Amino acid sequence: MNYSIVSSLISYNKIDTGTSKRFNCPICEGINSLSVTNFGDCIKFNCFKASCNVKGVIKNELSNKSFKIIDNLPNIKNSTDKIVLNKEDTKYWRTAMFPADLDRYITNNNCSYAYKSGLADIRYDYQKNRAVFVIKNSRNEVLDATGRALYTDALPKWYRYGRSRLPYVCGTKHSRHAVVVEDCASATAISHLVTGVALLGTHLTEEAEKVLSSKFDRVSVALDKDATMKSLSLIKQLKWSIANLNIIILERDLKNEDKGNLKGVLKLND
Ligand SMILES: [Zn+2]
Repeated sequence: MNYSIVSSLISYNKIDTGTSKRFNCPICEGINSLSVTNFGDCIKFNCFKASCNVKGVIKNELSNKSFKIIDNLPNIKNSTDKIVLNKEDTKYWRTAMFPADLDRYITNNNCSYAYKSGLADIRYDYQKNRAVFVIKNSRNEVLDATGRALYTDALPKWYRYGRSRLPYVCGTKHSRHAVVVEDCASATAISHLVTGVALLGTHLTEEAEKVLSSKFDRVSVALDKDATMKSLSLIKQLKWSIANLNIIILERDLKNEDKGNLKGVLKLND
């Protein structure tokens, strides 16, 4: 497999966490066409030459075993509409008779407005006891979902139902300003002002990058100050496809922020 050539190239060159480097591609010999980004928990590489297009993710330590080749996955990028969750995944969800824990979660995390106005489709998974944030397409079909545990200490805190790798997006149709946030609750908490986008993972998937670059004129990355490295690496990646890009370092999680402060925190008055 050609991929091991890329992996050894990467292992011989130190790339600091949160930074990207360009190399001559060892597969197609393209000059500086191979971009390699170190996200800390994984290293992502791709060649910009259309004729080559080699890409992949190396998780944690550099080893061929932990290699995951994105190219072998079905072409999700162009067929997101065909990914719909099957009945088995959704059969324990309900849209009414929420338990007190879920009502409390919705209220305490400032999701009430988005939920009541229909911007966010939130359901209850009574088997897993989770608040389900549903990801749908424009035809209202359920593509994927992620469920927040309502039991304290339940793991994982967020459970991904499908395999779409799509981000969670919450906002009105007219909003052309996306704000990348920590999780679904934060995305819903700001959806009356901008479009909240939760990546649902530690790094930017191609699907998320495509959503951000095709549907929005402006993108802000608004993560907690503990996630500054993650914010910087997102900015580094997104700057290839989004011109109007800024970073907001949060003192407090958006879902816990006072409603009256949101505009200021998101720098919407500038
Ligand atoms: Zn190449």
